[in-house]
Amino acid sequence: MTTDVATPMIKAVAVNKYFGDLHVLREITLEVPRGQVVVVLGPSGSGKSTLCRAINRLEPINSGEIAVDGVPLPAEGKALAALRADVGMVFQQFNLFAHKTILENVMLAPVKVRKTSTAEARKTAMELLERVGIANQADKYPAQLSGGQQQRVAIARALAMRPKVMLFDEPTSALDPEMVQEVLDVMTGLAKDGMTMLVVTHEMGFARRAADRVLFMADGELVEDTTPEEFFTKPRSERAKDFLGKIL
Ligand code: ADP
Ligand code: MG
Repeated sequence: MTTDVATPMIKAVAVNKYFGDLHVLREITLEVPRGQVVVVLGPSGSGKSTLCRAINRLEPINSGEIAVDGVPLPAEGKALAALRADVGMVFQQFNLFAHKTILENVMLAPVKVRKTSTAEARKTAMELLERVGIANQADKYPAQLSGGQQQRVAIARALAMRPKVMLFDEPTSALDPEMVQEVLDVMTGLAKDGMTMLVVTHEMGFARRAADRVLFMADGELVEDTTPEEFFTKPRSERAKDFLGKIL
């Protein structure tokens, strides 16, 4: 385990990934420093989800290197389990267990994977549900909650593993518009508390306000790696200009 502050939480070097003949990640090199929020922007199909999945090793890569907190992939067996436990992931679809209560959803992985005692897991789960503003729903089932509430539970569930870094893959894209902000507010709170985060999103307001850096991907390439200020006011590439022209 590395605790050297200079070691980036995530480091990728010259990563390539193919699906058959389709080259979906092209020589991707990036760093997510500790405590920073890095937002990944880019059109649909540009490889953003594949990048997240590669970092968590849900997808193998064809070449290049990815290290999480200084530990290189590919990890196997116990090392892989430890890596997955260190990297919290929140998806567009919340994927809560429908037949478990909100509290049970948040307690499950710490008890099963971290071997935390039930009492300790419950205490932590309640604290996290409090943090995402949903403790009063603890005994309900996912279907009884709104989409925004379910996504906040999904965030609490990921945090329950005490991850070193959180990956968010379009966490608000499946939500009704009125529920987007409550989820972004939770994410902004996490960022303020110093959580290291890699966030794929189309929420440009969040990117502007919360990001320390913006990565812009197009056609599997990392086209820009810059500050939000630069990206939104002076995008360098034609592809970024085109993208911003369509969404702003
Ligand atoms: P994004 O998240 O930016 O929309 P993705 O990473 O999901 O992009 O996809 C990048 C490219 O890889 C797309 O062309 C997509 O169709 C393709 N792709 C994604 N997953 C698979 C898969 N499991 N098999 C084949 N092609 C895939
Ligand atoms: Mg995607």
